[in-house]
Amino acid sequence: MSDAEKTKAFTKAQTTPIGMNPAEGGIVIQWQDGTDLVYDFRGLRLACPCAMCIDENTGEKILQPTMVPMDIEARSIESVGAYAMRFYWSDGHSTGIYPFPLLRYIGEARREALQARAKAQGL
Ligand SMILES: [Zn+2]
Repeated sequence: MSDAEKTKAFTKAQTTPIGMNPAEGGIVIQWQDGTDLVYDFRGLRLACPCAMCIDENTGEKILQPTMVPMDIEARSIESVGAYAMRFYWSDGHSTGIYPFPLLRYIGEARREALQARAKAQGL
């Protein structure tokens, strides 16, 4: 299942951002359903959905983790209409438009991964 397909189950409130704050190495997005999700810049950059980073025909990732600097950050972030965000990355890349459902999905996936890691460590 592609990332795009996994985002279809979200409600409107889950995919409507109402605020954004800086965080250590990333940002926090506040969603209308009351959930705050933390994003790290590198994770967001690696999830870039543009045609240079993901093959449009096969859906396979072209962008590899080794291609993204560890200290990557967003120089600026702007909203695109009422449906997406665009990031201007410190590596010069800025063609990725991140629809809100994709952002919600990336945030949920990161939170689940961190929770699973904490559980594995017995925390
Ligand atoms: Zn991209």
